[in-house]
Amino acid sequence: MMVGAASGMADPHMFSHGGPAIMARYIFITGGVVSSLGKGLASAALGALLQARGFTVRLRKLDPYLNVDPGTMSPFEHGEVFVTDDGAETDLDLGHYERFTGVAARKTDSVSSGRIYSNVLDKERRGDYLGKTIQVIPHVTNEIKDFLAIGEDEVDFMLCEIGGTVGDIEGLPFFEAIRQFSHERPRGQCIFMHLTLLPYLAASGELKTKPTQHSVKELQSIGIAPDVLVCRSEQPIPEKERQKIALFCNVRPEAVIPAYDLASIYEAPLAYHAAGLDQAVLDAFDINPAPRPNLTRWEDVNDRLKNPEGTVRIAIVGKYVQLEDAYKSIKEALVHGGIANRVKVQVEWIDAGVFDSEDPGPHLERFHAILVPGGFGERGTEGKIRAATYARTKKIPYFGICLGMQMAVIEAARSLAGIGDAGSEEFDHEAGKKRFTPVVYHLKEWVQGNHKIERKLGDDKGGTMRLGAYSATLKEGSRVAAIYGSTRIEERHRHRYEVDMRFREALEGKGLSFSGMSPDGKLPEIVEHEGHPWFIGVQFHPELKSKPFDPHPLFADFVRAAVEVSRLV
Ligand code: GLN
Repeated sequence: MMVGAASGMADPHMFSHGGPAIMARYIFITGGVVSSLGKGLASAALGALLQARGFTVRLRKLDPYLNVDPGTMSPFEHGEVFVTDDGAETDLDLGHYERFTGVAARKTDSVSSGRIYSNVLDKERRGDYLGKTIQVIPHVTNEIKDFLAIGEDEVDFMLCEIGGTVGDIEGLPFFEAIRQFSHERPRGQCIFMHLTLLPYLAASGELKTKPTQHSVKELQSIGIAPDVLVCRSEQPIPEKERQKIALFCNVRPEAVIPAYDLASIYEAPLAYHAAGLDQAVLDAFDINPAPRPNLTRWEDVNDRLKNPEGTVRIAIVGKYVQLEDAYKSIKEALVHGGIANRVKVQVEWIDAGVFDSEDPGPHLERFHAILVPGGFGERGTEGKIRAATYARTKKIPYFGICLGMQMAVIEAARSLAGIGDAGSEEFDHEAGKKRFTPVVYHLKEWVQGNHKIERKLGDDKGGTMRLGAYSATLKEGSRVAAIYGSTRIEERHRHRYEVDMRFREALEGKGLSFSGMSPDGKLPEIVEHEGHPWFIGVQFHPELKSKPFDPHPLFADFVRAAVEVSRLV
């Protein structure tokens, strides 16, 4: 469907399908008072609601930290690194964006101060600035504005979230850049949405609006006036308080949107719609009449989530279990698997390190399935291998992702193929001595499209893994071919090490089938144990492509296998 802008044919900013000139409207999303208010989720939900009204969207994240990208940050620090098809290592909020809108994120949808400064400094070294003194304004802000404008002729709405909170020193260039950007664009092309917190004081039984007022003042002092305020609150916001916020913050009362805690993040689109968020945004752009939303996709997702017909318990045996965000997409993909099967998936995190010294049996026997996720470094790997032995011998569904596949192969090499010292070169490199037969080795060259990519051990750590979407060919008649309903797939990768094909024969002889390979037949992509109810390891990250309204087939089938186990016990 398409909707013309209210002012008619002369409007140079027509929506995508409506006329020749397409120019995105921009929604800048900022946060105040405290961090972790759910800006990413609010942005993603708004994107979904605009789609539900027939508009096309793209979401972007601008992060103030100085790392060039999150690829080099520990998952303990920053949570999961989300990988795009085009091989960028990005902020986990891009995962939310994709899960809510289904729009595949690109390299150009995520930027940090580090990247911006690095670009500016590269240009300075090249002499691009013709001898000028390089300054935050205009050089850094110009670089940010150029980033914002990429692809603006492709969609109706560009939603740009600024990480951190207003007032952070390192965020200032971003705030200044969005101020300038909105000022330079025709009136009405950009709006600002600000998220704040209304703390509740139990002693006096009151919701306090003062922090919100201060946060908006802070924004105003740098030249930004919010059009929409989203107020997180644990308690219902009385109408009187809403009016007060509107008055003091210079926002229309209808544009003060309450945001309460939700049982599931997938309630956010419906909850924000009920609270009037999408209407407030369209009003701020003066899009009138607003096209009516079609929310059936979200109604169906919520119906399935709220009315499960059973429960399955799945153990994630990993290393970064203290911070659930480290496996954000896996956790969500399991929820999607539950949606596909109309069951509730209860996930429990188990520190693989525990199995280094303890028998996994007593820890794992309560579970209907076991997932071993990706990871880096040796710590916890012996425990993961023991978890794989447990799943294989007890015939419990096992899903190994990236490092989890490598561990499953090492397990089979040790227990079935008689290679007692099988291991990964990753751990030998880390320890600086050779202790293992490298069944998993350091990948030094591979093919991407028509290019050969080469790597050395001493390469920089940032951005040098095998990253992004690669295709794989699946064996006819294999379990995975049946699950995907295809023998050609494309999945996202992020790894440096790879299972060595020289061990293929020995392993296949023992029932571990290499059922997915890179199209040139050189790199193993999927292994599965024949004769096991469900034992699959994948070198890629299927969790990154799963959506609540389109669950990934591997996760849907893994949860189905867990349901079967739950019916047996
Ligand atoms: N550390 C392993 C590798 O680099 C696995 C990576 C991962 O699980 N993402 O190959």
